Amino acid sequence: MNLETVGKRLYLIALTLVCYLSLATEILAEPQSLKKQELKNMLTAIEKTTQATTSYTDIETISLDVMEALSKVNRAKFVPNHSINDAFGNHPLRIGYGQTISQPFIVALMTHLLEIKPDDRILEIGTGSGYQAAVAAELASEVYTVEIVEELAHSADKLLKSMGYTNILVKTGDGWYGWQDAAPFDGILVTAVAAEVPPQLLNQLAVGGKLVMPVGDPAGIQELILVTRNSSDETSAKDILPVRFVPMTGKGVLTLGER
Ligand code: SAH
Repeated sequence: MNLETVGKRLYLIALTLVCYLSLATEILAEPQSLKKQELKNMLTAIEKTTQATTSYTDIETISLDVMEALSKVNRAKFVPNHSINDAFGNHPLRIGYGQTISQPFIVALMTHLLEIKPDDRILEIGTGSGYQAAVAAELASEVYTVEIVEELAHSADKLLKSMGYTNILVKTGDGWYGWQDAAPFDGILVTAVAAEVPPQLLNQLAVGGKLVMPVGDPAGIQELILVTRNSSDETSAKDILPVRFVPMTGKGVLTLGER
C-alpha cells in the first residue's frame, strides 16, 4: 500500500467518524428540542385556559414575567419517571403519597394573582413536588415552603438544591401555622384546600400582601380565593375560580371547629 492510499483511507475513516459524531449529537439533542416544543405547547395551553376562564377570573392574559418564569422551570424534573412523557400536559399529575403536582394553568394563575416583585418574600403551604416553589423563586427574592409529608419535603428540597435554587427554604411541618419566624410575607400560596383560610396565615401576611388559596369542601365545591391585606386590621377577599385541590391535612385544620 503506498502512502497515497493510506492517506485516502485515513481520510475516509475520519469522514465516517465525523458523520457518526454529528448523528450522535443530533440524537442526543433530540430530547432537548422535543422538550422545547412541549414547553411551548404547555404555555399555549395555559394561555388558552386563561382565555376560556376569563368570565370567572377577569384575567385575560397571564403576566409576561410569570410566563417567562414558567418557561425557565423544567416541569419534567418534578414528575415521577413514569409520567415523564406527560410532564408538559396542562393537567395535574400524581407524585406519590396520594398527592399531586398542580395543573400548569393553576400554577400560572396563582403566581399571577400574587403579583410578585423581585424583593418579595413568599410563603408556600404544600411544597409537594417543589414545582410551584421553583416558579415563584424565579420571581421573588425568597420562597419559604412547608410540606407535611416528610418524604416529599426531603425530595423537593434535594431536587431544588440540585437545580441551583439558593432562595428556596423547605421545611417539614404543618403549614396551617405558617412560618412565624420568617413572617411577615408579601405573598402566600396555599396549594391544599381547607374550609377556611388559617388565621395564622392571615396574621403572617404583610400589609399590601396577597394570599391565594382554595377554600371549600375537600370532596366537593371549592373556590380559589384571593385575599389582600389592606391594613393591619383589615383584609378583603375575592372569589377567582372554582377549582379542585387535595385536602389540607394535619392537626391545625382540625382546630377549625374550635373557634
Ligand atoms: N405545590 C405543589 C402541589 C402540592 S399538592 C407542587 O407544585 O407540586 C398539596 C400538597 O400539600 C401535598 O404535597 C400535601 O402533602 C401538602 N399538605 C397538605 N396539608 C398540609 C399541611 N397542613 N401543611 C403543609 N403541607 C400540606
